Amino acid sequence: MKCRKCGGKAAFNMRQHKLALCKEHYLEWIPAQTERFIEKYRMFTHDEKILVAVSGGKDSLSLWDILWKLGYHADGLYLALGIDEGIGYSDESRRLCEEFASKRGLTLHVVDVLGDYGHTIPDLARSTHRGKDKPCSVCGLVKRHEMNRIARDFGYDVLATGHNLDDEAAVLFGNTLRWDGEYLLRQGPVLPAAPGLARKAKPLCRFCEREMAAYALLSGIEYIYDECPFAVGSTSIYYKELLNDLEHERPGAKLSFYLSFLEAKKKGLFAEQREETTAGLNVCQQCGQPTSALDLCSFCRMMGVGV
Ligand code: SF4
Ligand code: ZN
Repeated sequence: MKCRKCGGKAAFNMRQHKLALCKEHYLEWIPAQTERFIEKYRMFTHDEKILVAVSGGKDSLSLWDILWKLGYHADGLYLALGIDEGIGYSDESRRLCEEFASKRGLTLHVVDVLGDYGHTIPDLARSTHRGKDKPCSVCGLVKRHEMNRIARDFGYDVLATGHNLDDEAAVLFGNTLRWDGEYLLRQGPVLPAAPGLARKAKPLCRFCEREMAAYALLSGIEYIYDECPFAVGSTSIYYKELLNDLEHERPGAKLSFYLSFLEAKKKGLFAEQREETTAGLNVCQQCGQPTSALDLCSFCRMMGVGV
């Protein structure tokens, strides 16, 4: 297989795009495409301050690397969740993020959930009703709250996450199976800011998992290979496998599933839901983020802040 740009030996072949590229041209193509998506979906501009949520995995570190190479003002945020499970998952992922930032002279914010709030995520899950066997709903709540807090406290214009096409297609598949209008309405490459909430953007949403793994590998980015131990056996992994089977038979099916959804949304397919989802929210009296409760948001209530 030959590189379409230079005719040299291809390092990576993308069946869905009918495109094979050598290492050098692949490492140019991914950032150029990312820039195109950032502009197309109006995610952010070169004058804005971007906070990249990094987990130590290939997607978020690649995203930070790409934004840095494209000359964006992008700082990192790592949330130390205290997930150990015998493999030191959080410690190792933190080390990789810190090393990544220091090698490139970039700023990394670290929020240590145990140090700042006195609990690890697994502890919190055990002590609330939320985490019967897995701490994921508590973890999601803490991540959303803390990313948003740091973005607002430090004056970032936008919060960027490393969600790739496989992640987005799996979420879309789940939402579609339930025809969950509220979630479908909120899903997309960019979510505008709302009172108390920072704008969110997913610049990698059109690249599949394989493409990001190849980018990280070919760029020599050191990342944590293990998934979070609690991700094993999750519904989203099952959906990803189903979609990969489909993709194997019909290359491009995953991308077209996602892009057709965006197209349908643009045509107003879910528009009548808009009022319902934004109406009726209050402001948390402790942290100022939106909540459906009258006094404290779920995060502040769980952490026992201000009570
Ligand atoms: Fe948090 Fe791990 Fe669950 Fe992801 S899989 S939500 S990181 S506990
Ligand atoms: Zn709150």
